[in-house]
Parts: sequence; structure tokens; C-alpha cells
Amino acid sequence: MTREITTDPAAGEPIDGAAGPDATSAPDVLVITDPRTGRPLGRYAVTDADAVTATVERARTAAAWWRAQGFDGRRAWLKRWKRAIARGADDLAEVIAAETGKPIDDALLEVMLAVEHLDWAGRNARRVLRRRSVSPGIVSANQAASVGYEPMGVVGVIGPWNYPAYTPMGSISYALAAGNAIVFKPSELTPGVGARLAAFWAELGAPEPVVQVIVGPGATGDALVRAGVDKVAFTGSAATARRVMATCAQSLTPLVVEGGGKDALIVAADADLPAAADFAVFGGLGNAGQTCAGVERVLVESPVYEQFLVEVRSRAEKLTLTGPAPAYGPMTLPRQVDIVRDQVTEAIAAGATAIVGGADAFTGRRIAPIVLTDVPAESSAATEETFGPTLVIERVASLDEAVRRANATSYGLGASVFTADRATGTRIADELRCGMVSINSVLGFAGIGALPFGGVGDSGFGRIHGADGLREFSRPKAVTRQRFPAPLNLLTFDRKRRDMTISRWMLRMRHGR
Ligand code: NAD
Repeated sequence: MTREITTDPAAGEPIDGAAGPDATSAPDVLVITDPRTGRPLGRYAVTDADAVTATVERARTAAAWWRAQGFDGRRAWLKRWKRAIARGADDLAEVIAAETGKPIDDALLEVMLAVEHLDWAGRNARRVLRRRSVSPGIVSANQAASVGYEPMGVVGVIGPWNYPAYTPMGSISYALAAGNAIVFKPSELTPGVGARLAAFWAELGAPEPVVQVIVGPGATGDALVRAGVDKVAFTGSAATARRVMATCAQSLTPLVVEGGGKDALIVAADADLPAAADFAVFGGLGNAGQTCAGVERVLVESPVYEQFLVEVRSRAEKLTLTGPAPAYGPMTLPRQVDIVRDQVTEAIAAGATAIVGGADAFTGRRIAPIVLTDVPAESSAATEETFGPTLVIERVASLDEAVRRANATSYGLGASVFTADRATGTRIADELRCGMVSINSVLGFAGIGALPFGGVGDSGFGRIHGADGLREFSRPKAVTRQRFPAPLNLLTFDRKRRDMTISRWMLRMRHGR
């Protein structure tokens, strides 16, 4: 699918096709190939810094128009955009599959989840963000108090390549529903996905470019952060997040960071082992392990450890990477192959056992399933994000030890727990240091509009999705209206001694007892 497109990428469209990962990229052009075949997909002009600034300026005008539409007007536009994406889902999924290499069904699933969030954000923005009264309390009983949530203006969204539609749409949908215009820089590996999303918006014929896409590598993202946006929504690695945050610090631009993870799956002795194994294999190996909240480590209670290994091995060994329905595709980012290989060989050299796959699992960009046991706690396979089709399975003496080990990482994105006991599941979920927990499934939170998505530590801060996601892209504004003069008038230079005496007495009676 080579595209011949000759429009300005700064307006959100590719100039000359789709762009790609291992492409020979000149500074001003991205050249993209399909990771599954090496077939060229097309070329995109890189948006230069001046064009980025101009795009943000256009977005500022668009933001004023968008704000004026109000909750109901925006909801109507977002509904139309949702419809356009849903109707064009197969086309969008094809672009996702071609640019990332993932199977088409996985790409379609990604679009479905993205649309669910767009729908939720559009339908719930008014309820969550409209001005509401709050109790003024006894001391300020003469005031009527309310809080409302205003749009921030222009949100710069910087996306990754692993879920190039679902992930950025988690910021874009909620930022738009909250009344902001957005400028989106997709990953340099997946500009076609961004262009397609912008094209769906453009088809609606809105008078202002509320959704714009710019194209390019990290430098283009950096230009976006410096272009005077009112908020940055960044998804990517912790290392890049640190650079983006340092730039944001210069202008005090607020930032939400959706980073990577080293998510653990805990298996209690009373768990449904076949179900836990099924989810562990899918959560760890699905999308070739290139899932921010995918399963990287499995911590299994000792009595069921051996049986769990049998269950996992039988499932992982069955997966096929060839034919019409491969379990997962090749690695999207070529250099990720080396990261995975280095972690696996380092772990094996340090004493780990590969019960599935191993050093021979690597064929070009494809990595067959790898399941490691006895991985030393300090090796990078146990501590660093692997982002490959690997599972590290560890034996633990108790659930307390499982929680301790799960929490012993700089990341804290998601986690899963398998247990037949509801109270145990809830207790472990409470004790895990992370942003999201699925009990008896994996990634159960990803498709639920009402739930916030985000992590702690190196996994980031701030939240997308849900009411918290809508507020993330809003500025709260507090308003009071004096309904009658205060019985105790303290906000005057003409304070009465009597008012101070009563105030002193009230302070002691209300808070000093
Ligand atoms: P990355 O950090 O390499 O790049 C992310 C984005 O930042 C890209 O668009 C890139 O061009 C841009 N960028 C690079 N340098 C920049 C700079 N100095 N200023 C501004 N932008 C810059 O990450 P990636 O390889 O694209 O994505 C994989 C990572 O993303 C993994 O760690 C994964 O776990 C994480 N991720 C997290 C989530 C989540 O929601 N928490 C979702 C998907 C992926």
C-alpha cells in the first residue's frame, strides 16, 4: 500500500505515503517500510520547527472556536468523528498493521478500544467538568461556592509506536472532550496512523482544525513542546520522558507522562491455573510483548509453581508466528531485537533457564516465545522493561513475598492477580505499587472508559481515561459569590474586637478539642 499524497504534513497529512522504522530517513523525510515484509510503504515530509509553531498557532484559533461549541456542541462533533473512525476501522487497522507489523485482528482490536474511549469521553465530559456547587462550610456560610473545569487551550500529544491509535487517542479523546484543540506528533514509525486519524477529522468539514498532525522524529516532538502548547501529553519511554520534562520545566508547561512498565502477574496457590496461564501467555507475548502494561514477570506461589510452568509451556510452545494467522508479528523497532536478545543472553549466562525458546528464538525481526525461570533478581530481564515476547517466571514462598518482589522495581504501571479468594485479590491490589490492577484477567482496565489509566515512578504520572483523564486536560476554576455580609467580618481593617473574640472561641471549640 504505497500512498501518493502531496499535501502539507503540517496540516496533518502525509506528503508522499506512509513512513517507517528501519527506513533510510533523511532529516526532512521519513521513509517507512512494513516490518512484516520490508516492503516500502511510503515517505512523509518531516514538519520543521517553524511549521510546528505555525501549526500550534492555528490550533490556538481552533481552540477558541472549539471552546465556544460548549459541551453539547463538542459532543456532537466527537460523535461524528467516532462514527467516521468506526466506519473506516478496517482501513485504519490496515495502516496500523502495515506500520507496526502486528496482526490485523490485533490492529482492529486497538481501533475498537480507541473508539470506546472516544465515545466515553464525549458522553461524559459535561457530567464531569461542568460547574458544580460545593459546600462553603460554616466559616464561609455567607458565600455560594462552585468549581468548574475550563479547557487549557492547545494540548501537544506525543505518541509511541506500539499502540499507535489506542494510546494517543487516550489523550486526544479526553483532551478534545475537555475543550482543547490538539496537535499530535505520532511516533516516527507510525505517521500513517496519525495522518489517518486526522483525515477522519478533516472529512467532517469542521470550520477549524481542532485535530492536527505533525510528522517527524524526536526533534519534531521537542519543537512541539517548545511551541507554546498549554499542556503536553507524552507516551513513551522513561528516558525520553525525562528529556521532555526538562524542556517543559523551562516554560512550566504541565505534562502528563504515560511511561513503560515491568508489570507483574501474581498467581496464588488457589488460582485457576489454566486461566492464569492463558492470560499470562497472552499478556506477555501478545503484540510481541510490545505492550506498556503487558505481563513481563510472573510470580507464582510455590505449591503450584511446577504445574503452572507446565500450563504455560504447553501454551507458549503452540504459538505460531507464520501462516495466515500468526500469534504476533515481528518487532516493530529493529533495535528492540537487540535489547531483548541482550537481556535474554545475560539472564541465561547468569544462571536462568529458558523453558521455552532461548538464544535460538531470534530470526531477523521475529522472536519466538521465550519463557525464562531462575532469573537472578538483579539481571536486567528481571528489572528492566523488556518489551519483547518473553516471560520471566519466579517462584515465591508467599503472596507477601510476591507483592514485595512485584513492588521492587522503579516502574509501577499495571499488575494482575489470580486467586479464587475475592478478599485476597482486593488486599493484594491495595498493596501493589502501581496505577492499575486486574484481578483474574490481564489488561482488564484498558477498555473501561470510566477507569483512569497511568502509573507511578518510571511509569509516569497524571492520568488519561475516565473522569481523571478529563480533568487532566482541564483547569479547575474556583468561584465564590457573597450572598450576604459575613456575620463575623474579618476581611476588613475595621475588625471588631467582638468578632475576633468569637473567632478565637470558635477556633478552640471546632478544632482544639
Ligand atoms: P520513545 O520514548 O522512544 O518515543 C516516544 C515519542 O517521543 C516518539 O514520538 C518520539 O519521537 C518522541 N520523542 C523522542 N525524543 C523526544 C524529545 N526530546 N522531545 C519530545 N518528543 C520526543 O518511546 P517509543 O519507543 O515510541 O515507545 C515505547 C515506550 O512507550 C515503551 O517504554 C512503552 O512501555 C511506552 N508506552 C507506554 C504507554 C502507556 O500508556 N503508559 C503506552 C504505550 C507505550
